[in-house]
Amino acid sequence: MSIGFLGFNLFIEVLNQCRWSCPGCHVDKKNSERGFLDGDARRLIALSEEFRGQGHALQRFFVGPTDFLTAENWDLIAESETFRELASLYSTLAVYSTLLGDDEVLDRRLTQLNRIHPAIKLVIPIMPADVLQRPEYLRRLRRSVNRVKSGFGIHDFQMVFNVLPREGEDFRKVSETFMHEFGVKPEYNLSFARSADLKRDRAELVRQLDHIYRQLDFHIDRDGSQDESVEDWFVKCAVYREGELYSMPLLLDPFVNYHPAFRYSQDWSYAGLQKFESERILRAYAACDAMEECGPCPYLGLCSHLGVLDLMSEMGERRCIAPRSHFQDANELSGFRLWPWGYRAESP
Ligand code: SF4
Repeated sequence: MSIGFLGFNLFIEVLNQCRWSCPGCHVDKKNSERGFLDGDARRLIALSEEFRGQGHALQRFFVGPTDFLTAENWDLIAESETFRELASLYSTLAVYSTLLGDDEVLDRRLTQLNRIHPAIKLVIPIMPADVLQRPEYLRRLRRSVNRVKSGFGIHDFQMVFNVLPREGEDFRKVSETFMHEFGVKPEYNLSFARSADLKRDRAELVRQLDHIYRQLDFHIDRDGSQDESVEDWFVKCAVYREGELYSMPLLLDPFVNYHPAFRYSQDWSYAGLQKFESERILRAYAACDAMEECGPCPYLGLCSHLGVLDLMSEMGERRCIAPRSHFQDANELSGFRLWPWGYRAESP
């Protein structure tokens, strides 16, 4: 695991049901807390402690995949001692919510979260068409955000939206509106990856990724502020669901897909995960011969490390699917400190 990973983020997908149907959402709403509370949480605590003991920062612990305000089993999980112990190991506890639920539930659950962890990140799925066309949606959201900001110790807000099957959303307009209203830029969520059969849906995946990358001019701040996805390039992300733990490829965001190739063995030790990641990275380098553009590419090391080449291999895709211009922008903005060999003139 030591190959370039400074930290570790853990996602657990244990929340069952959700009241909302956000456009473009591919989350499986049927999840169970049983295996997690019956022993897997304890195993994840042991693994996280091993990571920390090896010098990796335990950064974000995400609890999802559904809205924590309307999930049926939130209280069962939140009141569990092992869940609290696991959450306390990480710098930030992150939850998802549209913030459109009842005020009383919002207050109660945020108070509960504040007792569990001092640093809460709220990831808010937004509805881009409603942002632009339904002032009452924006008013409702603003009311909840103000309520949360004034009453609770929220460490960080993130607004995300799913790519829609049609390319209807105007990212620039949605982004400007959110900067104006809330002081944050919304980000794309790769929800479509979740339900994809990588081989069968290859063309659609490529199309969706391409659609996102074409918006990227507005994605990276040129005022010197750090883009979170850049930090994430140095953090290993893993997701737990139904008794299994998966390595997550990372494009702009973690690519959640429960493909067997990404599944760790049941040896959830630091050494077990390290072996999996080292073998995976070597396989990725070996696979680059079959790819059309990767061999001479300055980002080959990065893509092998992020799992992009694994993903391309599993999809049977030979052309680049990485956010290459985003890599390039991040590199230039950092004064070529991220990958000193990645000058534009040498880029493919
Ligand atoms: S940026 Fe594209 S071409 Fe370069 S190594 Fe990554 S996937 Fe291959």
